Amino acid sequence: MKINHIELLRFQLPLVRPFRTSFGTQNHRDVILVRVETDAAEGWGECVVGVDPFYNEEYTDAAYGVLVRWLIPMVFAHGPLAAEDFAGVVSNVVGNKGAKAAFEMALLDAQLRADGVSLTTYLGGTRTAVPVGVSIGITPTVDDLVAVSQGYVADGYARLKLKIEPGFDVEPVRRVREAVGDSVMLQVDANAAYTEADIDHLAQLDEFNLLLIEQPFEPDDLLTHATMAKRVSTPVCLDESIVSLGATRTALELAACSVVNVKVGRVGGLLASRDIHDLCAAHGVPVWCGGMLETGVGRAANVALASLPNFTLPGDISASARYFDRDITEPWVLQGSSLAVPTTPGLGVNVDEAFVASLGATRGLFRP
Ligand SMILES: [Mg+2]
Repeated sequence: MKINHIELLRFQLPLVRPFRTSFGTQNHRDVILVRVETDAAEGWGECVVGVDPFYNEEYTDAAYGVLVRWLIPMVFAHGPLAAEDFAGVVSNVVGNKGAKAAFEMALLDAQLRADGVSLTTYLGGTRTAVPVGVSIGITPTVDDLVAVSQGYVADGYARLKLKIEPGFDVEPVRRVREAVGDSVMLQVDANAAYTEADIDHLAQLDEFNLLLIEQPFEPDDLLTHATMAKRVSTPVCLDESIVSLGATRTALELAACSVVNVKVGRVGGLLASRDIHDLCAAHGVPVWCGGMLETGVGRAANVALASLPNFTLPGDISASARYFDRDITEPWVLQGSSLAVPTTPGLGVNVDEAFVASLGATRGLFRP
Protein backbone atom coordinates (compact mmCIF):
# COMPACT_ATOMS: atom_id res chain seq x y z
CA MET A 1 0.00 0.00 0.00
CA LYS A 2 1.45 3.35 -1.04
CA ILE A 3 0.10 6.17 1.08
CA ASN A 4 -0.61 9.45 -0.70
CA HIS A 5 -1.37 11.41 2.44
CA ILE A 6 -2.56 11.15 5.99
CA GLU A 7 -4.94 13.45 7.84
CA LEU A 8 -5.52 13.85 11.55
CA LEU A 9 -8.95 15.19 12.53
CA ARG A 10 -9.56 16.42 16.04
CA PHE A 11 -12.84 17.48 17.61
CA GLN A 12 -15.05 17.14 20.66
CA LEU A 13 -18.25 15.10 20.64
CA PRO A 14 -20.66 15.71 23.56
CA LEU A 15 -21.90 12.75 25.60
CA VAL A 16 -25.62 12.39 26.26
CA ARG A 17 -24.87 12.23 29.98
CA PRO A 18 -21.71 12.66 32.06
CA PHE A 19 -19.77 9.41 32.50
CA ARG A 20 -18.19 9.08 35.94
CA THR A 21 -15.71 6.38 36.96
CA SER A 22 -13.35 6.15 39.90
CA PHE A 23 -10.95 8.25 37.75
CA GLY A 24 -13.19 11.25 37.19
CA THR A 25 -16.03 12.56 35.02
CA GLN A 26 -16.22 12.90 31.24
CA ASN A 27 -18.74 15.20 29.54
CA HIS A 28 -17.51 14.73 25.99
CA ARG A 29 -15.13 12.66 23.91
CA ASP A 30 -11.96 14.40 22.75
CA VAL A 31 -11.65 12.52 19.45
CA ILE A 32 -8.67 12.07 17.14
CA LEU A 33 -9.39 10.36 13.82
CA VAL A 34 -6.64 9.14 11.51
CA ARG A 35 -7.50 9.19 7.80
CA VAL A 36 -5.18 7.39 5.38
CA GLU A 37 -5.52 7.84 1.63
CA THR A 38 -3.98 5.50 -0.93
CA ASP A 39 -4.54 5.29 -4.68
CA ALA A 40 -7.05 2.51 -4.06
CA ALA A 41 -9.00 3.57 -0.98
CA GLU A 42 -9.29 5.71 2.12
CA GLY A 43 -9.15 4.29 5.62
CA TRP A 44 -10.23 5.58 9.03
CA GLY A 45 -9.00 4.89 12.53
CA GLU A 46 -10.06 6.26 15.91
CA CYS A 47 -7.78 7.08 18.81
CA VAL A 48 -9.60 6.17 22.02
CA VAL A 49 -7.24 7.62 24.63
CA GLY A 50 -8.72 9.96 27.23
CA VAL A 51 -8.25 13.71 27.49
CA ASP A 52 -6.50 13.11 30.84
CA PRO A 53 -3.86 10.44 31.63
CA PHE A 54 -6.15 8.81 34.22
CA TYR A 55 -7.16 5.47 32.65
CA ASN A 56 -3.55 4.89 31.59
CA GLU A 57 -0.57 7.12 30.84
CA GLU A 58 -1.81 8.22 27.41
CA TYR A 59 -3.82 11.37 26.73
CA THR A 60 -5.06 13.00 23.56
CA ASP A 61 -2.52 15.83 23.31
CA ALA A 62 0.30 13.29 23.70
CA ALA A 63 -1.25 10.85 21.22
CA TYR A 64 -1.60 13.63 18.66
CA GLY A 65 2.00 14.65 19.27
CA VAL A 66 3.40 11.15 18.94
CA LEU A 67 1.48 10.61 15.70
CA VAL A 68 2.80 13.87 14.20
CA ARG A 69 6.37 13.70 15.44
CA TRP A 70 7.13 9.98 15.18
CA LEU A 71 4.51 7.55 13.88
CA ILE A 72 3.57 9.34 10.65
CA PRO A 73 7.20 10.21 9.73
CA MET A 74 8.28 6.61 10.41
CA VAL A 75 5.59 5.24 8.11
CA PHE A 76 6.45 7.73 5.36
CA ALA A 77 10.16 6.96 5.73
CA HIS A 78 9.46 3.24 5.37
CA GLY A 79 7.61 3.64 2.09
CA PRO A 80 4.85 1.30 0.86
CA LEU A 81 3.68 -1.08 3.56
CA ALA A 82 0.94 -3.53 4.49
CA ALA A 83 -1.10 -2.94 7.63
CA GLU A 84 0.56 -6.04 9.09
CA ASP A 85 3.96 -4.30 8.80
CA PHE A 86 2.93 -1.27 10.86
CA ALA A 87 3.76 -2.56 14.36
CA GLY A 88 7.28 -3.44 13.27
CA VAL A 89 7.81 -0.14 11.45
CA VAL A 90 7.00 1.90 14.58
CA SER A 91 8.48 -0.53 17.13
CA ASN A 92 11.12 1.98 18.28
CA VAL A 93 8.31 4.02 19.83
CA VAL A 94 7.67 2.57 23.28
CA GLY A 95 4.07 2.31 24.48
CA ASN A 96 1.68 4.93 23.02
CA LYS A 97 -0.57 2.03 22.10
CA GLY A 98 -3.72 4.08 21.68
CA ALA A 99 -2.02 6.24 19.05
CA LYS A 100 -0.58 3.18 17.33
CA ALA A 101 -3.93 1.35 17.40
CA ALA A 102 -5.65 4.28 15.67
CA PHE A 103 -3.05 4.40 12.91
CA GLU A 104 -3.09 0.63 12.38
CA MET A 105 -6.91 0.71 12.24
CA ALA A 106 -6.82 3.30 9.44
CA LEU A 107 -4.25 1.28 7.50
CA LEU A 108 -6.29 -1.91 7.89
CA ASP A 109 -9.49 -0.13 6.85
CA ALA A 110 -7.81 1.22 3.69
CA GLN A 111 -6.20 -2.13 2.88
CA LEU A 112 -9.40 -4.12 3.38
CA ARG A 113 -11.52 -1.65 1.43
CA ALA A 114 -9.06 -1.97 -1.46
CA ASP A 115 -9.18 -5.76 -1.16
CA GLY A 116 -12.98 -5.85 -0.81
CA VAL A 117 -12.79 -7.78 2.47
CA SER A 118 -14.73 -7.01 5.66
CA LEU A 119 -12.84 -6.63 8.94
CA THR A 120 -14.76 -9.50 10.52
CA THR A 121 -13.78 -11.84 7.68
CA TYR A 122 -10.16 -10.70 7.85
CA LEU A 123 -9.94 -11.24 11.62
CA GLY A 124 -11.65 -14.62 11.52
CA GLY A 125 -15.00 -13.62 12.99
CA THR A 126 -17.68 -16.28 13.29
CA ARG A 127 -20.74 -14.23 14.35
CA THR A 128 -23.13 -12.10 12.30
CA ALA A 129 -24.27 -10.23 15.43
CA VAL A 130 -22.50 -9.67 18.73
CA PRO A 131 -24.20 -9.52 22.13
CA VAL A 132 -23.47 -6.22 23.84
CA GLY A 133 -23.97 -4.67 27.24
CA VAL A 134 -23.93 -1.21 28.68
CA SER A 135 -21.45 0.35 31.06
CA ILE A 136 -23.03 2.58 33.68
CA GLY A 137 -20.99 5.26 35.39
CA ILE A 138 -21.14 6.17 39.07
CA THR A 139 -24.30 8.18 39.72
CA PRO A 140 -24.99 10.91 42.30
CA THR A 141 -27.32 8.61 44.26
CA VAL A 142 -28.14 4.89 44.38
CA ASP A 143 -31.73 5.72 43.39
CA ASP A 144 -30.34 7.33 40.22
CA LEU A 145 -28.31 4.19 39.51
CA VAL A 146 -31.38 1.99 39.88
CA ALA A 147 -33.42 4.24 37.58
CA VAL A 148 -30.68 4.38 34.94
CA SER A 149 -30.20 0.60 35.13
CA GLN A 150 -33.91 -0.05 34.69
CA GLY A 151 -33.91 2.32 31.72
CA TYR A 152 -31.19 0.37 29.94
CA VAL A 153 -32.95 -2.93 30.61
CA ALA A 154 -36.08 -1.38 29.07
CA ASP A 155 -33.95 -0.38 26.05
CA GLY A 156 -33.13 -4.07 25.57
CA TYR A 157 -29.72 -4.49 27.17
CA ALA A 158 -29.40 -7.95 28.70
CA ARG A 159 -26.11 -7.16 30.44
CA LEU A 160 -25.25 -4.23 32.69
CA LYS A 161 -21.85 -3.23 34.01
CA LEU A 162 -21.73 -0.98 37.05
CA LYS A 163 -18.74 1.18 37.85
CA ILE A 164 -17.85 0.89 41.54
CA GLU A 165 -15.45 2.62 43.91
CA PRO A 166 -14.90 2.55 47.70
CA GLY A 167 -18.13 3.82 49.27
CA PHE A 168 -20.18 2.97 46.16
CA ASP A 169 -20.10 -0.80 45.79
CA VAL A 170 -21.98 -3.46 47.78
CA GLU A 171 -25.21 -1.57 48.47
CA PRO A 172 -25.57 -0.08 44.96
CA VAL A 173 -25.01 -3.54 43.44
CA ARG A 174 -27.54 -5.08 45.85
CA ARG A 175 -30.15 -2.45 44.93
CA VAL A 176 -29.63 -2.89 41.19
CA ARG A 177 -29.74 -6.69 41.43
CA GLU A 178 -33.03 -6.45 43.37
CA ALA A 179 -34.45 -3.98 40.85
CA VAL A 180 -33.53 -5.75 37.60
CA GLY A 181 -33.90 -9.36 38.79
CA ASP A 182 -31.74 -12.41 38.28
CA SER A 183 -32.23 -12.70 34.52
CA VAL A 184 -30.12 -9.62 33.72
CA MET A 185 -26.39 -10.30 33.45
CA LEU A 186 -24.58 -8.02 35.88
CA GLN A 187 -20.89 -7.26 36.37
CA VAL A 188 -18.84 -4.55 38.08
CA ASP A 189 -15.73 -2.54 37.22
CA ALA A 190 -13.52 -0.98 39.90
CA ASN A 191 -10.94 0.68 37.62
CA ALA A 192 -8.15 -0.14 40.10
CA ALA A 193 -9.76 1.76 43.00
CA TYR A 194 -9.15 -0.87 45.73
CA THR A 195 -6.26 -2.39 47.71
CA GLU A 196 -5.56 -5.83 49.13
CA ALA A 197 -7.13 -4.74 52.43
CA ASP A 198 -10.50 -4.54 50.62
CA ILE A 199 -10.67 -8.18 49.53
CA ASP A 200 -12.98 -9.29 52.35
CA HIS A 201 -15.22 -6.32 51.67
CA LEU A 202 -15.35 -7.09 47.95
CA ALA A 203 -16.15 -10.74 48.75
CA GLN A 204 -19.59 -9.49 49.79
CA LEU A 205 -20.29 -9.07 46.08
CA ASP A 206 -20.30 -12.88 45.74
CA GLU A 207 -23.96 -13.04 46.76
CA PHE A 208 -25.14 -11.09 43.69
CA ASN A 209 -24.29 -13.69 41.05
CA LEU A 210 -22.05 -11.33 39.07
CA LEU A 211 -20.46 -12.35 35.77
CA LEU A 212 -17.19 -10.86 36.97
CA ILE A 213 -15.43 -8.14 38.90
CA GLU A 214 -13.12 -6.10 36.70
CA GLN A 215 -9.72 -4.71 37.71
CA PRO A 216 -10.07 -4.12 41.45
CA PHE A 217 -6.36 -3.32 41.94
CA GLU A 218 -3.50 -1.42 40.34
CA PRO A 219 -2.63 -2.55 36.80
CA ASP A 220 0.85 -3.84 37.71
CA ASP A 221 -0.34 -5.64 40.85
CA LEU A 222 -1.08 -9.06 39.40
CA LEU A 223 -0.29 -10.90 42.64
CA THR A 224 -3.06 -9.17 44.57
CA HIS A 225 -5.48 -10.06 41.77
CA ALA A 226 -4.31 -13.67 42.09
CA THR A 227 -4.91 -13.54 45.86
CA MET A 228 -8.38 -12.12 45.28
CA ALA A 229 -9.17 -14.80 42.70
CA LYS A 230 -8.48 -17.48 45.34
CA ARG A 231 -10.62 -15.81 48.02
CA VAL A 232 -13.76 -14.79 46.14
CA SER A 233 -16.07 -16.85 43.98
CA THR A 234 -16.91 -14.01 41.55
CA PRO A 235 -14.57 -14.36 38.54
CA VAL A 236 -11.80 -11.76 38.45
CA CYS A 237 -11.35 -10.00 35.09
CA LEU A 238 -8.39 -7.83 34.09
CA ASP A 239 -8.62 -4.69 31.95
CA GLU A 240 -5.90 -2.11 32.64
CA SER A 241 -3.35 -4.87 33.40
CA ILE A 242 -3.68 -6.45 29.94
CA VAL A 243 -1.34 -4.21 27.95
CA SER A 244 0.28 -6.83 25.72
CA LEU A 245 0.45 -10.49 24.81
CA GLY A 246 3.26 -10.94 27.35
CA ALA A 247 1.29 -9.30 30.14
CA THR A 248 -1.65 -11.55 29.29
CA ARG A 249 0.52 -14.65 29.44
CA THR A 250 1.89 -13.60 32.83
CA ALA A 251 -1.60 -12.93 34.19
CA LEU A 252 -2.85 -16.32 33.02
CA GLU A 253 0.18 -18.16 34.43
CA LEU A 254 -0.32 -16.43 37.81
CA ALA A 255 -4.07 -17.20 37.75
CA ALA A 256 -4.62 -13.48 38.34
CA CYS A 257 -7.83 -13.62 36.32
CA SER A 258 -10.24 -16.07 34.75
CA VAL A 259 -11.70 -13.59 32.24
CA VAL A 260 -9.93 -11.01 30.06
CA ASN A 261 -11.19 -7.67 28.76
CA VAL A 262 -9.64 -6.83 25.37
CA LYS A 263 -9.42 -3.20 24.27
CA VAL A 264 -7.91 -2.38 20.90
CA GLY A 265 -6.52 0.96 22.07
CA ARG A 266 -4.93 -0.48 25.19
CA VAL A 267 -3.00 -3.29 23.50
CA GLY A 268 -1.79 -1.41 20.40
CA GLY A 269 -4.23 -2.47 17.73
CA LEU A 270 -6.55 -5.01 16.21
CA LEU A 271 -3.79 -7.47 15.35
CA ALA A 272 -2.44 -7.53 18.92
CA SER A 273 -6.05 -7.90 20.11
CA ARG A 274 -6.48 -10.96 17.93
CA ASP A 275 -3.26 -12.46 19.32
CA ILE A 276 -4.52 -11.98 22.88
CA HIS A 277 -7.85 -13.51 21.90
CA ASP A 278 -6.04 -16.55 20.50
CA LEU A 279 -3.83 -16.96 23.59
CA CYS A 280 -6.82 -16.78 25.92
CA ALA A 281 -8.73 -19.26 23.76
CA ALA A 282 -5.82 -21.69 24.02
CA HIS A 283 -5.99 -21.34 27.83
CA GLY A 284 -9.76 -21.77 27.93
CA VAL A 285 -10.17 -18.22 29.25
CA PRO A 286 -13.12 -16.26 27.79
CA VAL A 287 -12.62 -12.69 26.61
CA TRP A 288 -14.93 -9.76 25.95
CA CYS A 289 -14.51 -6.44 24.22
CA GLY A 290 -14.11 -3.40 26.43
CA GLY A 291 -15.13 0.10 25.44
CA MET A 292 -13.67 3.60 25.59
CA LEU A 293 -16.80 5.60 24.66
CA GLU A 294 -15.90 5.14 20.99
CA THR A 295 -17.56 6.95 18.11
CA GLY A 296 -18.99 4.85 15.30
CA VAL A 297 -15.49 4.32 13.87
CA GLY A 298 -13.93 2.67 16.92
CA ARG A 299 -17.24 0.93 17.59
CA ALA A 300 -17.04 -0.73 14.17
CA ALA A 301 -13.60 -2.10 15.02
CA ASN A 302 -14.93 -3.38 18.35
CA VAL A 303 -17.93 -5.08 16.78
CA ALA A 304 -15.73 -6.87 14.23
CA LEU A 305 -13.29 -7.94 16.94
CA ALA A 306 -16.12 -9.19 19.15
CA SER A 307 -17.27 -11.46 16.31
CA LEU A 308 -14.29 -13.76 17.00
CA PRO A 309 -15.23 -17.08 18.60
CA ASN A 310 -13.71 -16.66 22.07
CA PHE A 311 -15.52 -13.34 22.69
CA THR A 312 -18.15 -15.28 24.59
CA LEU A 313 -19.26 -12.54 27.00
CA PRO A 314 -21.17 -9.39 25.93
CA GLY A 315 -18.94 -6.42 25.15
CA ASP A 316 -19.07 -2.82 26.39
CA ILE A 317 -19.95 -1.77 22.88
CA SER A 318 -23.54 -0.46 23.10
CA ALA A 319 -25.62 1.47 20.59
CA SER A 320 -24.55 4.96 19.52
CA ALA A 321 -27.53 6.49 21.34
CA ARG A 322 -26.19 5.33 24.70
CA TYR A 323 -23.34 7.85 24.27
CA PHE A 324 -24.20 10.43 21.62
CA ASP A 325 -27.22 12.32 20.31
CA ARG A 326 -25.68 11.95 16.89
CA ASP A 327 -22.80 9.69 15.92
CA ILE A 328 -20.19 10.62 13.30
CA THR A 329 -21.04 7.50 11.26
CA GLU A 330 -24.24 5.65 10.53
CA PRO A 331 -25.70 5.11 14.02
CA TRP A 332 -25.16 1.78 15.71
CA VAL A 333 -28.63 0.53 16.62
CA LEU A 334 -29.47 -2.17 19.13
CA GLN A 335 -31.17 -5.29 17.78
CA GLY A 336 -32.43 -7.10 20.85
CA SER A 337 -29.29 -6.95 22.99
CA SER A 338 -26.93 -7.24 20.01
CA LEU A 339 -25.29 -5.22 17.26
CA ALA A 340 -25.07 -6.53 13.69
CA VAL A 341 -21.55 -7.15 12.38
CA PRO A 342 -20.88 -5.18 9.16
CA THR A 343 -20.01 -7.29 6.13
CA THR A 344 -19.02 -4.47 3.77
CA PRO A 345 -15.28 -3.98 3.11
CA GLY A 346 -13.04 -2.61 5.85
CA LEU A 347 -14.65 -1.27 9.03
CA GLY A 348 -17.96 -1.07 7.17
CA VAL A 349 -18.88 2.45 8.29
CA ASN A 350 -18.64 5.87 6.64
CA VAL A 351 -17.60 9.05 8.41
CA ASP A 352 -20.03 11.95 8.02
CA GLU A 353 -17.34 14.54 7.27
CA ALA A 354 -19.83 17.41 7.03
CA PHE A 355 -21.07 16.65 10.55
CA VAL A 356 -17.50 16.35 11.81
CA ALA A 357 -16.73 19.74 10.23
CA SER A 358 -19.78 21.22 11.96
CA LEU A 359 -18.25 20.15 15.27
CA GLY A 360 -15.33 22.49 14.55
CA ALA A 361 -12.88 19.72 13.68
CA THR A 362 -9.31 20.74 12.94
CA ARG A 363 -7.61 18.84 10.11
CA GLY A 364 -3.88 18.34 9.85
CA LEU A 365 -2.57 17.13 6.48
CA PHE A 366 0.67 15.16 6.19
CA ARG A 367 2.42 14.13 2.97
CA PRO A 368 5.45 11.91 2.40
MG1 LIG B 1 -12.60 -1.48 32.81
